[in-house]
Amino acid sequence: MTDNAVAVTLLDRVQAAPEIGRAIPDAATGETIGWSPEHSVADVDSAVARAKAAQPAWEGLGDEARSALLLRAADAIDAHAEELAHLLSREQGKPLDGPNARFELGACTMWLRETATAQLGTQVIRDGDDDIAEITYRALGVVAAIGPWNWPLMIAIWQIAPSLRMGNTVVVKPSEYTPLSVLALVQVINDVLPADVLIPVVSGDREVGARLASHPDIDKVMFTGSTATGRKIVEASGANLARLTLELGGNDAGIVLPDADPAAIAEGLFWGAFINTGQTCAALKRLYVHDSIYDEVVDALAAVASQMPMGNGIEGGNVLGPLQNAKQFDIVRRLVEDAKQRGRRIVVGGEPAADLGPTFFQTTLVADAEDGDPLVDEEQFGPALPIIRYSDVEDAIASANRLEAGLGGSVWSSDREAARAVAARMRAGTVWINSHGTIHPKVPFGGVKGSGYGLEFSVEGLKAVAEPRVIAG
Ligand code: NAD
Repeated sequence: MTDNAVAVTLLDRVQAAPEIGRAIPDAATGETIGWSPEHSVADVDSAVARAKAAQPAWEGLGDEARSALLLRAADAIDAHAEELAHLLSREQGKPLDGPNARFELGACTMWLRETATAQLGTQVIRDGDDDIAEITYRALGVVAAIGPWNWPLMIAIWQIAPSLRMGNTVVVKPSEYTPLSVLALVQVINDVLPADVLIPVVSGDREVGARLASHPDIDKVMFTGSTATGRKIVEASGANLARLTLELGGNDAGIVLPDADPAAIAEGLFWGAFINTGQTCAALKRLYVHDSIYDEVVDALAAVASQMPMGNGIEGGNVLGPLQNAKQFDIVRRLVEDAKQRGRRIVVGGEPAADLGPTFFQTTLVADAEDGDPLVDEEQFGPALPIIRYSDVEDAIASANRLEAGLGGSVWSSDREAARAVAARMRAGTVWINSHGTIHPKVPFGGVKGSGYGLEFSVEGLKAVAEPRVIAG
């Protein structure tokens, strides 16, 4: 049996009959790969009711038993990793190879295991003879996990794992663009978990997400997606007072200081910007390079960019794929066309890669871009990086900080201390030095400003899906 045949078997367990399902295309070819079930608002209500009924017994199992079940779920995902990676690659478009589909499956189990074993004990605040104050954490109730289409499995795990660990039950709503791979992941996890602890609802109708976020029995919404939808979720929480973790859009700046070594940083810059073909929340989306090494950095980056193979993800060797959907392709094409109209310099790419498929866009570097260009100021979420020249680092810091987004940022330098001093002045949830987007399950992650609020990962992530209780006296 080939890997593909195995993937079809898992797909068959989760997909709907063609007569009632919604056709889901292969992101690279447009060919239908399966049919997604279509849940209604009434299905959301029933899922939340079942999750609420299951929650006390799940919490009552105790932390040790929940941790053990999550570790078993990680083993089950490992056992299905190849089939899940194939389905993900076809549905999302990301190649199997490179920091893409197989890498995403590896991240799923890494995060699941770390979350299953992180320790959030009682926090003792005061410990006098007659004066004790401590904080303990218990479950909130039912968590809504609403996700995007770019890293659909990894982000689902980020939302699901801490919620379950703390004794909450979860209703998970994948993006309408990538339902099948998330359904398959949930199926594998549910082979291990008790019934109704983790329930998927899927739909192409945005009413389903809206109902879930505003449902009176939802206690917490873990949301990753656009800033526009994030605002709607904040409004919805006015009614149910659900706690929120919002991981929203980013427009991360990278600042290359004059003492950086262009050859040494070029590959890191490339993957910081082009991981998942640029469709990554905390990717490097605008690069500010000091005038004194500007040409060397552009040349070094161009050398790396031009040798990275792009193509259909399930064909081995490709490390860049298509845009996941036509809407995102149109955004990237519009922004690059606008840059050309402004006379910006196309160093690499600049055109659709129509020979590869309808939503492929060439790996694109746009030099001599400027603040105010739509390609700089808007989130491109695709394989087109604007490079901006600066001569005073104060200007670069001001440029980096001037937009609404505040997810990540990076500083590139041969002098770590100088880089840290610049990093400390950047308004972003995380600022990396000599890398971009390198996340770890033990290191908290979250946005500031328009990129949202709330921390994920580590014990901070566990606290975010828990109800604190202070006992004092
Ligand atoms: P999106 O906001 O369009 O959709 C995200 C999810 O919200 C989908 O499941 C969608 O069905 C659901 N939804 C839509 N309307 C809703 C409503 N009114 N109430 C509740 N749910 C609703 O985002 P997208 O296009 O899928 O994802 C791309 C965006 O996500 C980019 O801006 C990217 O930067 C951001 N993103 C952020 C992070 C992060 O960690 N900060 C990670 C990945 C993606």
